[in-house]
Amino acid sequence: MPRDHRSGSARTPLETSLSVERAARLVDDLVAFLGPAGVVADRERLSTYESDGLALFRQAPWLVVLPRDTAQASRAMARLWADGLAIVPRGAGTGLSGGATAVRGGAVLSTARMRDLLELDVENRFARVQAGLVNAHLSKACAGHGLFYAPDPSSQQACTLGGNFANNSGGPHCFKYGSTVRHVLGVVAVDARGDVLDLSEPRLDPLGLDLVGVLTGSEGTLVLATELTLRLLPTPERTETLLAVFGKLGQACDAVSDLIARNLEPSAIEILDRLTIEAVEASVYRAGYPLDADAVMLLDVEGSTAEVDEIVEELEAVLHANGGRELRRASTALERKRLWAGRKGAFGAMGRVAPDLYVTDAVVPRTRLAELVAGTAEICRELGLKLANVFHAGDGNLHPNICYDGRDANEVARVLEAGHRIQELCLAAGGALSGEHGLGLEKRDGMCALYNQADLDAMGKLRDAFDPERRMNPDKLLPTRPCMELRTAPPTLPGEDRG
Ligand SMILES: Cc1cc2nc3c(=O)[nH]c(=O)nc-3n(C[C@H](O)[C@H](O)[C@H](O)COP(=O)(O)OP(=O)(O)OC[C@H]3O[C@@H](n4cnc5c(N)ncnc54)[C@H](O)[C@@H]3O)c2cc1C
Repeated sequence: MPRDHRSGSARTPLETSLSVERAARLVDDLVAFLGPAGVVADRERLSTYESDGLALFRQAPWLVVLPRDTAQASRAMARLWADGLAIVPRGAGTGLSGGATAVRGGAVLSTARMRDLLELDVENRFARVQAGLVNAHLSKACAGHGLFYAPDPSSQQACTLGGNFANNSGGPHCFKYGSTVRHVLGVVAVDARGDVLDLSEPRLDPLGLDLVGVLTGSEGTLVLATELTLRLLPTPERTETLLAVFGKLGQACDAVSDLIARNLEPSAIEILDRLTIEAVEASVYRAGYPLDADAVMLLDVEGSTAEVDEIVEELEAVLHANGGRELRRASTALERKRLWAGRKGAFGAMGRVAPDLYVTDAVVPRTRLAELVAGTAEICRELGLKLANVFHAGDGNLHPNICYDGRDANEVARVLEAGHRIQELCLAAGGALSGEHGLGLEKRDGMCALYNQADLDAMGKLRDAFDPERRMNPDKLLPTRPCMELRTAPPTLPGEDRG
């Protein structure tokens, strides 16, 4: 093992925390069973783990550990426990709420070397995977068998199934199929002490308390998931993709409520606004969206051929009635792929607008989409910020994307204020803090606005039952101070109150 983590005169944070000798012993012990590629301890490489997709908050971990399987993860966590280190699980680091950022230092436990598809049971329609398998790789592996994995975050070419499990992630097609929790049948997990919990049998009819449900969406604060058993669905007989073009963003929002009120339920309803269209069309994700539109809506309709024909006809009538001025049907698989590539590449395309992007997430009553989209635009206008909107409209799941330059401290402060005000606006309208990105670091204190202290204490007790010392992903998901204190204390940004 190269000892470059000790290069330079200053001590590393790991050495400062443990002493030079204990830090060296810890690294040597881990390397002994993980191999040199299983441990990262030099400063330069650690800096690549300093944030996830929420780059507003950065903190490099002291150490990164990359096991290959459950047994190695269990041994590594027991060894980290012995030295009192915090453990932050990490998949691909595409999270947008700071969940995989090691805000208190400690060790990141990465699943990047746990990418195997362990079992594909076509007959019983499930897959057993290692937690680090990339989401899109699972659907690719089962496509030839007439099956697919439904949760499809727009980051699916990079994000891991373990990260999806931890955040209870959604995606465009979760409108019809439900978010990740609906598709997890079992989990093998390791707790902070290194003890293994096997909740993967029986797969189809679990008994007793629903611990799989408890662990799904727990954002790495209870356990590290190492293996997952996931439900697969039969590929629909036919899928039709439609693009509706609108002269006004508000019309597109209102059309969503109308479609749903009429029980016309496509499998996905996504909206992209003008700035997003411009960014996509100027990028490698160019999809052929019209540049003179204020908004486009992308819809998928799935089912039998007869069903699809009937629904598409009715859909088109409703979209027209709501101001949809042009409707396109993708006539080939390639065209369909292109239309979706534009949507899924939209966040990446925003790099053309500004160097940094803050993608926030809120879920609101669908009937108030138009009003709240306008409200978020007004907040950003007042604060002099550039806003783009691309969102899972069918779920009422807004993603205001604020474009900014992280080198400009004043602009960063305005971005944070906008995030806070957007959150307040959506909560006041009966919305929730997050539709799918999780609370992580970003929204943990916002929980005080939704729950009373007794509710939060009950969640804390559940956390303590798995991890009484709160070594797993500390300072995430739940407020770090009593709500009463948070309400009366001068406002601090998450991450500023590291103790
Ligand atoms: C371009 C882009 C588009 C996106 N689109 C969507 C979308 O459509 N829908 C959506 O829901 N999200 C979306 N996201 C957010 C993000 O991709 C998801 O939250 C995803 O599930 C994170 O997976 P990851 O592997 O990157 O996890 P990470 O970011 O590494 O971690 C996320 C959280 O999970 C925990 N964690 C990771 N692996 C494990 C594990 N094995 N066991 C326990 N805890 C673990 C981490 O500690 C952290 O709290 C998008 C992000 C980007 C950048």
